[in-house]
Amino acid sequence: MDLNRYSRQTVFQQIGADGQRKLLDSKVAIVGLGALGTVIANNLCRSGVGFLRLIDRDYVELSNLQRQTLYDEKDASEQMPKAVAAYNHLTKVNSEITLVPIVTDVNSSNIEDLIKDVDLVLDGSDNLEVRFLINEACHKYKIPWIYGGAIGSTGMTMNILYGESPCFRCFCPIATTTGSSETCSTAGVLNMITGIIASVESSEAIKILIGSPEVRKDVFYVDIWDFSSQTIEIRKDPNCPTCAQSHYEYLGQLKGSYSMGLCGRDSIQIVPGMPVSIDFAHLAEKLNKAGEVSFNRFMLSFDDGYRCFNLFPDGRAIIKNVKDESAAKSVYSEYIGL
Ligand SMILES: [Zn+2]
Repeated sequence: MDLNRYSRQTVFQQIGADGQRKLLDSKVAIVGLGALGTVIANNLCRSGVGFLRLIDRDYVELSNLQRQTLYDEKDASEQMPKAVAAYNHLTKVNSEITLVPIVTDVNSSNIEDLIKDVDLVLDGSDNLEVRFLINEACHKYKIPWIYGGAIGSTGMTMNILYGESPCFRCFCPIATTTGSSETCSTAGVLNMITGIIASVESSEAIKILIGSPEVRKDVFYVDIWDFSSQTIEIRKDPNCPTCAQSHYEYLGQLKGSYSMGLCGRDSIQIVPGMPVSIDFAHLAEKLNKAGEVSFNRFMLSFDDGYRCFNLFPDGRAIIKNVKDESAAKSVYSEYIGL
């Protein structure tokens, strides 16, 4: 293969022609093609990673365009699945690599098939449940993966290297109570921070794929608004259910939400897999920034003129005006969390 198109990478000594060949021989899965995933996919496609599996459950919407760099207004007006829109764009950028778009909701029933044949998994997802699933599946198949997350002007990323570093569960021992953490829909997110975090994920990806000794093992955190950054050393939890005990709680569907269409209504019900307790007053305070909220002790209702749902204290939600379960799950994770 002619490596000339990658000349700016091959002259970079730490990669070189050997490294470039390793990249071309590599297989990567990108889970989630939002603000992080689009930047990662773009970087790795142009860098010549030979195989990219592009996975996302969602459709392109106008509000995505502020930060999801592979999409345009036409994709939004046509409500193109993000995986397909990303494929259409990237295949024009690099036709010499293999790009496989997959429109699916990543869950415990399909995660293993999506990742078990790749060399590396990159997290571009927006929720903890998927990250715990990736963490367990990657541990089971001894595959490295890279976590990334961003909100507001802050972001962080961490490499999870099988047998060499703490896992995501060591770093984040338990899923936070649903509704208790901010999401990008309630706190916003700047495209510059998602660009930085995704680019750090991408450069770590390249280091891992070429076998660089300079792969990071700590958490990198940055806030671009107050211009602070730090690296945080994480210790391996000797009792970690995942990396110490190989006890997979999410993979086995012991935990994890499920959803179903509600008969005769244009609504989808989402039920969290573990019992949660939602503080409506706290959640309402956050959601107030995004739309109309009202609640009593039995139910919280939200409407921004477009997204509309009713939420119960145990985490069960009915998402209205959605076409399918994937769209309902997106609303749930964007506005309610987890
Ligand atoms: Zn662990």
